[in-house]
Amino acid sequence: MQVLVLNCGSSSLKWKLIDAASRQALARGQVERLARTEGAHAAAIDEALRALDGARVDAVGHRVVHGGERFHDPALIDDEVVAAIEACAPLAPLHNPANLAGIRAARAALPGVPQVAVFDTAFHHTLPRRASTYALDPAVAARHGIRRYGFHGTSHAFVAREAAAFLGQPLERLRLVTLHLGNGASACAIEHGHSVETSMGFTPLEGLVMGTRPGDLDAGVVLALLREYGQSVDDVDRLLNQASGLAGLSGVGNDLREVEERAAQGDDRARLAIAVFAHRVRKYVGAYAAVMGGVDAVVLTAGIGENAVAMRRRILQRLDFLGLSLDEDRNADARVSDAKRVADVGDPTSRVRVLVVRTDEELMIAEEAAKVVAGRTAVRQPGPIPIAVSARHVHLNQEALETLFGPGATLTPRNDLSQPGQFACQETVNLIGPRRRIDGVRILGPLRSKCQVEISRTDEFHLGVDAPVRHSGHVEGSAPITLEGPKGTLTLQEGLICAWRHIHMHPDDAKAFGVQDGDEVQVEVHGGPGRDLIFGDVVIRVSPKFRLEMHIDTDEANAAELSQHATGQLLTPEGEELATTAATARLLSRRPTLRRPALTGA
Ligand code: AMP
Repeated sequence: MQVLVLNCGSSSLKWKLIDAASRQALARGQVERLARTEGAHAAAIDEALRALDGARVDAVGHRVVHGGERFHDPALIDDEVVAAIEACAPLAPLHNPANLAGIRAARAALPGVPQVAVFDTAFHHTLPRRASTYALDPAVAARHGIRRYGFHGTSHAFVAREAAAFLGQPLERLRLVTLHLGNGASACAIEHGHSVETSMGFTPLEGLVMGTRPGDLDAGVVLALLREYGQSVDDVDRLLNQASGLAGLSGVGNDLREVEERAAQGDDRARLAIAVFAHRVRKYVGAYAAVMGGVDAVVLTAGIGENAVAMRRRILQRLDFLGLSLDEDRNADARVSDAKRVADVGDPTSRVRVLVVRTDEELMIAEEAAKVVAGRTAVRQPGPIPIAVSARHVHLNQEALETLFGPGATLTPRNDLSQPGQFACQETVNLIGPRRRIDGVRILGPLRSKCQVEISRTDEFHLGVDAPVRHSGHVEGSAPITLEGPKGTLTLQEGLICAWRHIHMHPDDAKAFGVQDGDEVQVEVHGGPGRDLIFGDVVIRVSPKFRLEMHIDTDEANAAELSQHATGQLLTPEGEELATTAATARLLSRRPTLRRPALTGA
């Protein structure tokens, strides 16, 4: 599939024609200095199409900066999607109107060619509430959609995927800090494939120092400029968006190469600009390692991340305490290109890997657009899938069992669980958190090699701990918890998780549904009366030992008001062979996704 990727800025249009299957760019171009007049984008797109000289365009992929609360995935564009992007415009007044002008012009110029919007914010929809929430009056925040959204998601997701492939490890086992350091700059903490923290917030102004933006800034500065120092809103806008960051600090401009040159000549402002930039990035690396309870690799990308040798060294020096050390020679020699995307610049003894990865947002947009177009219809797969609400529970190993219940203790089965071979036990333990305790938590058998305690968000708050959302069995770097049994107490350094919602299935089911172990799918849940909901981010777990069943936690079941015998149906975006028989097919991109449930009481 040949995808035309359009990146429409307020004053420029960048385009690339990409063969999604071979990942090859077939043609590319740029139209600069667009007038801020109606029709400028249309003229630029006409110019691009002329340059394409009749080349086949099977789909158009549009970069859209802000998807607001609404878009968690790429969306096939229709009138309703255009209106929804328009509704997000107040959140990104510089970007979304330009993106929309491009969408309108491309729909007019290429009628009948499917068009897909790919959002910079979408990858960050998995931010936990504690990371996405500003500590503001919630009524004000809710009224105006004020929260941390995060940007550069396409780039963070792309380099994370490339890094995992280079390391030969599944993304869902890795904790990464990705640093997109270009003219715009942001950091992202990616835990087991999901964005859990990112430095840009409500707008792309927050976080790292950028080419012309200051990043983090006390909001009081803005108030003082407006109130005490007579600046207008437009003055402050210009200061923050165009006259700050590397350019503002150095007085040289936003190009780091020129700032470095001036610094080498002894210019103090240029030196300070470099020091402030590096310091801010270092601060975020440390913070994000703390957020994830550790880090397996730091990934640098974009203009500065890919090319600026001295800046990489400044950022990553003295991080040995994290188990991270840079190899000076590898760092100096690192070259990345479309042909060789990843360079390893870590010292061979460094526990934390350090990678330079060439980003390619256009390629990612082309791949995402191709996926949406190829599987345009969402198909309700044969079902129904029984849903089980998973109450808080504990898995122990033999050693832990004996510590809690005395030497030689064994588990006493109480009743069988729906998954073959699994059972609930007579034995229970008490969970002791820093804040409060939860008594009588059921142990599930059989014994495992590692201890694991699964709780809900409400439990988390009650106990006074933050537990990461994890797939069962992935407890590395998770939260600590103390267990109390009749014969002893045991503090686990890790093992406490909130379980990621998942579906157990037998390999035969997986074959019938056309999915594989580790796939993430959407499930339409038929809950209580009149309540059909979509659960996104449901992970598939396949084993010959499993029986078909979806597991969600008590918070989610309560929020969805699920009845006891609720069932779900799998929605697969790529169910083409089934699409012909599915009279019920609907567009995936139109579906609302159930948001994480709100905390209740406690
Ligand atoms: P981007 O927005 O990703 O194109 O990145 C632009 C930034 O990358 C500018 O600040 C450039 O100065 C910087 N950059 C590109 N190449 C180099 C280099 N060789 N050394 C230092 N900075 C570079």
